[in-house]
Amino acid sequence: MSNVPQLIRDVTIAESGRFEAARNQVIVRPYPFPYRAALAVSNDLDSSSPEAFEAWHAYVNGRKPTPNGDGLGLEVADSFWIWSGTGNTTLALHYQFPDEETFVDSPISGRIVELAKLGWFDTLHSLGNWRRDVRLTEPSDLSAGKPKASEYATASRHEVLYAFDKLDRLGIKPEVYVNHSGSPSNVGGPWGFYQKADVKDHPLYCMDLMKNAGIKYHWIDAATDTEKFGNDLSYSDNESLAVALARFPWAPFLRRRVQDKVVPVELPSDPRLARQMLLNIFNSSLFTLPAQDGQLFYAFKRYRGAYQPTASTFPIQVTSAELDELERQRGCVIVYQHFGVFSHLGRSPLIGRRMRRRTASPVFDQHAVACWEDIAERWRSNRLFVAATGRLLNYLWLRRALIMQTEKLPEKWVVTLMNFQCPVLGNRPVTASDLNGFSLLVPAEAPDVVVILNGASQPLKVTRDIDPVHPDHHAVYLAWSALEWPQK
Ligand SMILES: [Zn+2]
Repeated sequence: MSNVPQLIRDVTIAESGRFEAARNQVIVRPYPFPYRAALAVSNDLDSSSPEAFEAWHAYVNGRKPTPNGDGLGLEVADSFWIWSGTGNTTLALHYQFPDEETFVDSPISGRIVELAKLGWFDTLHSLGNWRRDVRLTEPSDLSAGKPKASEYATASRHEVLYAFDKLDRLGIKPEVYVNHSGSPSNVGGPWGFYQKADVKDHPLYCMDLMKNAGIKYHWIDAATDTEKFGNDLSYSDNESLAVALARFPWAPFLRRRVQDKVVPVELPSDPRLARQMLLNIFNSSLFTLPAQDGQLFYAFKRYRGAYQPTASTFPIQVTSAELDELERQRGCVIVYQHFGVFSHLGRSPLIGRRMRRRTASPVFDQHAVACWEDIAERWRSNRLFVAATGRLLNYLWLRRALIMQTEKLPEKWVVTLMNFQCPVLGNRPVTASDLNGFSLLVPAEAPDVVVILNGASQPLKVTRDIDPVHPDHHAVYLAWSALEWPQK
């Protein structure tokens, strides 16, 4: 246990994120009925040609024959950029840098808008590429013969204002924001060093603008699992939890870079909060963290695995054995990918990087097709919930933020959905659009269960079924409605 932080060495399964259906209570089911585990793929668009993008989505999301086989009809969304930089023909609204005088809409921008409005582009992969590498912006770089001040990246809040105004005018509202290698518009949180979006006195500071624009969830570089497949795993006993804690690669989470030095990451001074932060890092898909400006934001974890996450490594990243274990432990995984990139297996990282190239149709080889078919089979057999990253996170958020009241009368229980209370996104009423797949667990012996939105005159049209995952419980639910891919 030596590598496990002292603060959590005595943790038990009750605190570890293990889900238990309550004895005599109504609670929100971990995932929509009837699924036992959940998966999303969070794909960074880097290098994705518009052709490769259409090819792999037609196979994964569509329902028609494709070169990879018949479409699987899965809900797997994608990410986009505002700016890709000059000549970078990928999934961006502009093939230009943010400091250009005027912007031209890229040839793919219409398609991005069309799909974003339908929910298929739910993620901004940062705002995109700036002309120069932002990692050359530290004043300390001015010494030691590094680039002159005039060569440093300039990035400003005006550019961010343009970006969100553009999205607003286009009528698209991504809710997820994931950092992109070296972008100044990245968020750093407790591990921040080159990331500028959450640095209050930096010219690019824009955490407030992102929140106003409707960004709810951030993936930051540090929130990456390299070994542990999935979070919110229910450990069966304290021994298996202790093994998992000892196997967890703690070191990258416990340090941060400050210019050329590596220092311990700052944990909350209150030991209870510090303990909770460590537990979240270990086994939460979605949790709050302080940004570099001190404000709380929602971070989520992505699973990378040991290799660079590309179309080539996907089948060794998401294996049947990992998925079996995820189902057994009723966990949730958000897979980190770059389906626009082909990389060679088994090469050293240095050579491997040089040999990377764009994927072309058909994007997936036989190994990756088998991997997708396995995922689709688990979805079709009602075991694995597969949803767009933002929609999966919305469900996980609802579990944390929803306030309910249950009135237990002899002939029926009346569950009122009061409101949402959230330390990050604030308090607000519950609306019908929040309730896709909304599922409650009730004790099997409970009488009729009526579910009502606070203030509504009619109850929700819920269904009640024996729960296949949680013994002695029934599910009271609204069916999940998946996105439909617009066939070309
Ligand atoms: Zn990227």
